[in-house]
This record gives sequence, C-alpha cells and structure tokens, in this order.
Amino acid sequence: MNARLVNIGQLVVVPPGPVAGGDMQMVPTIAGAELHIADGRIAAFGPAGTLGDAPADCETIDAEGGLLTPGLVDCHTHTVLAGTRENEFVQRIQGKSYAQIAAEGGGIKATVKAVRQASKERLVELALPRLKRMLAGGVTTAEIKSGYGLTLADERKMLEAVAELRTLQPVELVGTYLAAHVVPTEWLNNRQGYLEEMYADEVLADLRKSRLAAFGDVFCEGGSYTPEESRFVAEACLRNGLGFKIHSEQLSNSGGTRIAAEMGAVSADHLEYVDDYAIEALQAAGTIPVVLPGCSLFLDSEPAPARLLIDDGLPVALATDLNPGSSMIESLQLIMSYACVRLRMTPTEALVAATANASAALSRQDRVGGIAEGMQADLVVLDAPSVDAWLCQLGRNCVRKVLKRGRTVVQRAE
Ligand SMILES: [Zn+2]
Repeated sequence: MNARLVNIGQLVVVPPGPVAGGDMQMVPTIAGAELHIADGRIAAFGPAGTLGDAPADCETIDAEGGLLTPGLVDCHTHTVLAGTRENEFVQRIQGKSYAQIAAEGGGIKATVKAVRQASKERLVELALPRLKRMLAGGVTTAEIKSGYGLTLADERKMLEAVAELRTLQPVELVGTYLAAHVVPTEWLNNRQGYLEEMYADEVLADLRKSRLAAFGDVFCEGGSYTPEESRFVAEACLRNGLGFKIHSEQLSNSGGTRIAAEMGAVSADHLEYVDDYAIEALQAAGTIPVVLPGCSLFLDSEPAPARLLIDDGLPVALATDLNPGSSMIESLQLIMSYACVRLRMTPTEALVAATANASAALSRQDRVGGIAEGMQADLVVLDAPSVDAWLCQLGRNCVRKVLKRGRTVVQRAE
C-alpha cells in the first residue's frame, strides 16, 4: 500500500520503544508535516515540501490539519470473554469488596463458567464488535489473553478465537496463554498437578508452533499463584520459546515482580503494590512495567506509582486491562487521559506509554508503536492541535482516521 499523508497539523514523532524515564517527555513534533508510505511502511516524513518524490501509484490522504500519532497499542487485555458481571458492579457500589464477591463464586470464576459454556464461534462473535470499537478508538495492535477456560480444551478454544479474529478485522492481535489465572475449583487439592498439565512442554511447544500464543502469563497473588509457582510457569514458557509476562503486585506486595526480573520477563503488569527493591530489579532486567489504571478507575482503588517509576528511569507502558470484573473499559484514550489525572503522567508520557512502550511490552518495537522509516504505517489522525489538547478531553474519541499498514481502516466524523 503506497500513500501520501498531507496537511498534517502536527506530527508527533514518537521514537520506537522502549523509551525510558525523562525521554518519555522528550518527543519531537513537526508542524505542517507530510508523511510517505511505501508498501505499508513509513518511507519518509518531514515538513511539507521538504520530502522527495511520493511513492509511485500512491493514494493521497488528507489529515485535514489534524494531529498524527502512531496507532495505539493495547498491550494487556482480556477481550475474549463471555457473560457479563454488571451485578458485581452494583454489589461493589453497595459496599461489597472485589475479594468478597470472588469468595461468593463471582469474580473470575463467573467468567470462567460462561467461557466454558460458549463455543469458539460465540467467543468470536462477542469479541468482534469490541475490537471494532477499539479500532475506531485508535488501537491498531492489541494483546489478548486466555485465562477464562482453565482446561486444555477451553484455553485452546480462547486462543483459537483470537486467531480467527485476526482474519476478520484489522487490529493486529497477539495471543497470551494465561492458564495460571486462578486455580480452578477442580484442582484446588492439586495445584502443582494443574500447572504441570497446563504448562507441559508439549502443550506450550504446540501453542508456539501453531502461533496461538507468543507469551505465557501467570497471576501471582494470594488466592491465585505463589512466586514459586510463577517461577515454574516462567521456566516452562521460556524453555518452549514463549516470552514470559506476569500479573504482579496488583492486590498486595506478593513478590511477583522479583520473579519477573529474575526470569527476564518481557513485562510485569499491574504493580499497584510494587516496592523499591522490585523497581530496581525491573530496571536491571530490562522488564517493561505495564500499569493498568483502569482497575483504579473501575474499582476506585489505589493505582500503581507510575510517576515514581518514570522518575526512576523506567519505560512505563499503559493498557486498558479490558476485562468484565475489574476494568470493563475499552477506551485506551480514556485510560491515557485518566493516567494524566490520577498517575500524574504528562499527556506526552501517556502517548509514549500507549504506543512505543506498549509495543516493547509485546516485543514488537521494531515494527509498531513509533514513527520512523521502515516502521509499519499504523497511524492515527486526531481532531486536536496537540497531544495536550487531545488528552485533556476525558472520554471523547478524537480519532478521525486510522491507518493499518498504510490502508485507511477507519474514517469517522464526530
Ligand atoms: Zn489482566
């Protein structure tokens, strides 16, 4: 796909990730820019009139004076799911805690029940409109986890749904195997047996070979898995060619972040209760900290100390954690704006966190999440003069156009 994007009010030149610490704020912009796309990749960009010849047979796309950024990357979601949990939403408003609801059979287990009953086709049907709305909100790459099946067949069914969704819509999807989400009721007396079955070498090798999953993940938390069990999951994943991710320190300081650093995890996600020691360990390991403030917004709880992580020099990433229990939020733009308000990230830092660093959290930083020659032309045109002016509008979808590999896949009016 060859194209020429003209009349760009401001081009935000987010560098490929990871972008760490103070550099997250140091993003150049070009006013009155133009950008050339050849074979679906960024070929050149700069002030209008300073570029060489446009690629042959190229379509001209008018940005109408809007802001141009990389396509957003939602690097932590549970988008494939079944059932709804609005009853819990109301119960929490009336005073019940997330832990209380889970103890009464709600929580993740309620979604597991619904996912086990749903066919793969039904999971696809339910996720497709969600992905369309995410795309319309500027997301061009998203990660989707399993973790609501908790049997070999049901976990595979979830990842096969992700694979099918790849063929049905333009958002690039990365599958993550999260069989170690909670301990299924039928295995409560044999936790290790469950992990050995679900993270057996032949299971993981097959997921990788059939491209159903690029990463393995574990929920390290009291009530789910211990740091030692998380290490077992990490070793199995790494031995079989899957990258390792971990849900760590969401509800308590349970030690998952240290396992992330020790095992060289690609990312450690949540971090609400992370301590100084774990922050240093993350830095030494080059693990991307992914903060998920949607949970704080949805559950009215304390968010991760993102400001501290950035000030300590880390490449913080942001994601929605879209899931029915603790963050039923599809809008990454809303999460970015909220991160500004609640985590005291600047709008530019929030943009870098949801593009370059989110891409690094998926090991795709060489292809997506930045503006550089040779990067995939995944781009968003926004109805705003600057990043600050965009993200100070909480909850408004400012997206006007979305390009995936140089092709216009969303065109919307107010
Ligand atoms: Zn999650």
